[in-house]
Amino acid sequence: MTDRIFNFSAGPATLPVSVLEQAQSEMLNYRGAGMSVMEMSHRSKAFESIIQHAEADLRSLLSIPENYKVLFLQGGASLQFTMVPMNLQSKGKSADYILTGSWGQGAFKEAKKLGSVREAATTAVSNFNRLPSPDEIKLDSGAAYVHFTSNETIFGVEFDEEPATGDVPLVCDMSSDFISRPVAVSKYGLIYAGAQKNAGPAGATIVIVRDDLLESVPDNLPAMLDYRNLAKNGSMYNTPPCYAIYICGLVFKWLIDDVGGLEKMHALNKEKARILYDAIDSSDGYYRGHAEKDCRSLMNVTFRLPSEELENKFIKEATAAGLDGLKGHRSVGGLRASIYNAFPKTGVEKLVEFMNEFQKNSG
Ligand code: PMP
Repeated sequence: MTDRIFNFSAGPATLPVSVLEQAQSEMLNYRGAGMSVMEMSHRSKAFESIIQHAEADLRSLLSIPENYKVLFLQGGASLQFTMVPMNLQSKGKSADYILTGSWGQGAFKEAKKLGSVREAATTAVSNFNRLPSPDEIKLDSGAAYVHFTSNETIFGVEFDEEPATGDVPLVCDMSSDFISRPVAVSKYGLIYAGAQKNAGPAGATIVIVRDDLLESVPDNLPAMLDYRNLAKNGSMYNTPPCYAIYICGLVFKWLIDDVGGLEKMHALNKEKARILYDAIDSSDGYYRGHAEKDCRSLMNVTFRLPSEELENKFIKEATAAGLDGLKGHRSVGGLRASIYNAFPKTGVEKLVEFMNEFQKNSG
């Protein structure tokens, strides 16, 4: 264990050590099946049980109401940029997009190719360092849906509360704060998330969709892009990402049994983020957060140093000290510390220690 480093990567990201250990212990012979989950038919009893338990545990974690389907798909969150408009924009209506960063822009760009879309709000002018206030969001009450990104991974801005959209279905790209806190699923028409930040490894994409939205899915969609078809087949229209789903299931169990649920996870995530933002705010301006204080992400902490030269030096020395993956995305520059669910508090404390030391020596 001593050779594991602190991995601040934005995704794929740190997984709980106990999950990795369990996967390791079950690698050659999964619970008496005589084979690994990787080698097992997706139609076998053992795998059926794995996917059913994963779904049941996710339902229990998020208190997902019965009138929602849970799908384990492939293609990443990026394929959902396409599937959402294909499936939900059937009646020729337009769709509203709230743009608070690159991922929202990406979703908007894809949706534009398929139908009519509107920009309901954007904070691009200030390089996505804040969220729009409710009165800046101009919604069309006749829209097919409103799309937003609960946490913009690159800029480090996160909604505390979902935008109010009245009767218009709310669609959320929750990729980078999925299951990091309790969410009132009933407020949403559809939630999607790539697994590779909080839920598990890359390869699985989770979609939670309200039943009534499936009823108006167009009949002529390609089978693999049709939510109704994928739901009808219990995510097994074709071979699902079996191993990724198995690991997601172990992560859900870890959240329930070891962490004690999403309220507890949220409290711990708040505590980790507070430690890091406090260090930034108490550095006399040496470290500067990118996001405005009232919309700071608990998952991705973005900050700058006084010069690019110092930023490069910081990253190099931090990596050598076992603090990996801190380089920020080029559209923000500087640093980004991704501290998802499984990222340990001790790693955050170690980073803060390093930051204080670095400032003393280089400031
Ligand atoms: N949305 C958000 C908020 C993301 O952070 C990412 C990945 N970093 C994506 C979408 C794209 O996800 P994927 O690579 O699974 O397509």
